[in-house]
Amino acid sequence: MILKIDTSKREEFKDITNEIDEIVKNSGIDKGIVNVFVQHTTAGITINENADPDVVRDMLSTFDKIVPFEDNYKHYEGNSHAHIKASMLGSSVSIPIEEGKMILGTWQGIYFCEFDGPRNRKVVVSIIESK
Ligand code: ZN
Repeated sequence: MILKIDTSKREEFKDITNEIDEIVKNSGIDKGIVNVFVQHTTAGITINENADPDVVRDMLSTFDKIVPFEDNYKHYEGNSHAHIKASMLGSSVSIPIEEGKMILGTWQGIYFCEFDGPRNRKVVVSIIESK
């Protein structure tokens, strides 16, 4: 299934844990794996702390130090920093499902990571049942 995500900033981490949780619950699958796949080249996905918002702020500012917005990139679109950051994080995460729920750690949340927004984005959510 496709989950639509509208971002509102140039760079932001959107917590999509509740949306994925809902899809898992509605699937009726008791045990398995949910895979969340980003169909974009300037956005990524990651799992990290969703309790203290400063963690996300620190991650965004650190990514900007490692991969600055401007750095004599050759790519004509002018968004190479976003392509690089997206690849640093990767385009999918998989979370085990037990007793009908994702078994994320206490402090873990799933973040859609926008690096070239604002845009209308999509992630593909696939659930594989296991015994
Ligand atoms: Zn580009």
